[in-house]
Amino acid sequence: MFFLDLPLMFKLKRMLQTDKKIIIAIDGYSSSGKSTLAKEIAKILDYKYIDSGAMYRAVTLFAIRNNIIDPKSHQVDEEKLRSLINQVHINFKYNSEKNRQETYLNNENVEDEIREMEVSDNVSFISKYGFVREKMVNFQQEMGREKGIVMDGRDIGTVVFPNAELKIFMNADAKVRAERRFLELKEKNVNVSFDEILENVKKRDHIDETREESPLKKAVDSVELDNSNMNRQEQLDWIVGLVKERIS
Ligand code: C5P
Repeated sequence: MFFLDLPLMFKLKRMLQTDKKIIIAIDGYSSSGKSTLAKEIAKILDYKYIDSGAMYRAVTLFAIRNNIIDPKSHQVDEEKLRSLINQVHINFKYNSEKNRQETYLNNENVEDEIREMEVSDNVSFISKYGFVREKMVNFQQEMGREKGIVMDGRDIGTVVFPNAELKIFMNADAKVRAERRFLELKEKNVNVSFDEILENVKKRDHIDETREESPLKKAVDSVELDNSNMNRQEQLDWIVGLVKERIS
């Protein structure tokens, strides 16, 4: 979880103190460490943190539950999805006991369920639809209206906030990413093999990169970070340096 200790946190807070609020867009490949870095920098800056992937995962869970997608063949009933999409309401609430933000689908806490393999295996087949993306993007832009937000995803710097003051594009070797995800899920006692995860990571990357609507791609004005060989402290130092530049 969070590795920042209080003295370091206060030191960084002081270093980045300003009245200026910016938007930080963090895009990149699956399990590249986007959310970890995004949460840390949001905490230091006292910004809102939004995990846009959680929103696509919640729509996918809705689609599985309502027989809109066959979770085995990934066949989607597009018309049904289109006609029911307005019944999907997503919001986030902070759980102070667990010290994390949680995702709600139609007022139900689905934070754990949306991280399960069945959702991961199906999410890219749902997130490729333009009408799904349009609804998510409107909501994401609304949340960023007053700035002071860190959002991570696939199209944040390219589509959601093309004018974000800081855009980051993260990547790491697929095996390194799968290993991180594997350890994360093992910690949560999710029963899944490393090979399954590696396959899922590669497949999602491929679908996300090649879809027609808002494919995963590096915004031309983004700064790239390959963190295959970087620890969390090094990544944090790197982003703190960039934020400092953008807010001063
Ligand atoms: O970030 P995470 O891996 O949880 O995202 C799950 C999936 O949601 C991605 O593989 C992608 O298909 C979709 N997604 C997206 N656009 C975003 C964020 C996530 O299409 N901005």
